[in-house]
Amino acid sequence: MADQSTTTTTESMIMAALSTLTSSQLTSLSASLSAAFRRHNHHLASLLTSPTLFAHTLNHLYSLSLSEKSLLIARHLLSFLHLLTPFLFPLSSSSPVYIPSSNRVRLRDLDSVLLLLFFCEVRQHQPTILENVSPARWQGILKTYGSDTILGNLYTGFALSLSPYQVLGALVDLVVKCRRFVGSKGCDGVEAGKEVAASVDAVVALPSVESGGGVECVICKEEMSQGRDVCELPCQHKFHWKCVLPWLSKRNTCPCCRFLLPTDDVYGEIQRLWDAIVKLGLQI
Ligand SMILES: [Zn+2]
Ligand SMILES: [Zn+2]
Repeated sequence: MADQSTTTTTESMIMAALSTLTSSQLTSLSASLSAAFRRHNHHLASLLTSPTLFAHTLNHLYSLSLSEKSLLIARHLLSFLHLLTPFLFPLSSSSPVYIPSSNRVRLRDLDSVLLLLFFCEVRQHQPTILENVSPARWQGILKTYGSDTILGNLYTGFALSLSPYQVLGALVDLVVKCRRFVGSKGCDGVEAGKEVAASVDAVVALPSVESGGGVECVICKEEMSQGRDVCELPCQHKFHWKCVLPWLSKRNTCPCCRFLLPTDDVYGEIQRLWDAIVKLGLQI
């Protein structure tokens, strides 16, 4: 499938998913996105105005391999995708919303990814701006470029002045970028269908339940006797703890229905959230 048509399909799928949200849900989503954009603009402004922080971040970027840089971008995009989590997995007492801890972007990584994405943006708009220029002068040049765009926008309240629909448009764009990391050939992510472990945080939070007796655990084929050695997944399938723990340490799927649990694997988590977006979009 051509890139353009993949993008169009992805866009219509996310639009379909967003159209299932109520107007108050859209307002709350748009507010959390605006807050994230504002926070990132603030970080980027600090980076571009501090020669020390800029040099430190640039050195860190130099030390990363291509796949580490891809992972950094994927994790950053995933942090936006996670803003959709409450709408993709509506809260119920048995399935709280998890944001796997290792998917959170650390401060140094945030600086690095914002600088990396800023480089990409600058290169797109002014491809020759850093040509034949020593890296020692990059900070000054980028600061001037930034003050006309990002920094100027920051101080004039850019994020506040965006309409909710512009913010949601930006979200669609981010999800399209995120989607490119999974599920298509030749992308930077992992191969499709690769098994990843369930997030430890999510597994620890699974509830112990009464089996009710007479029900077979599909992993060991033995009856689950009364007691608290049985655990229930959010899809309501039950297993012995001793059977399901080794299973979930290798894969994040329910052995019965393939329900996906959160994972600390960035690409696996993007795939999980994307599957949920598709499922929500197909409801209309
Ligand atoms: Zn069992
Ligand atoms: Zn299940």
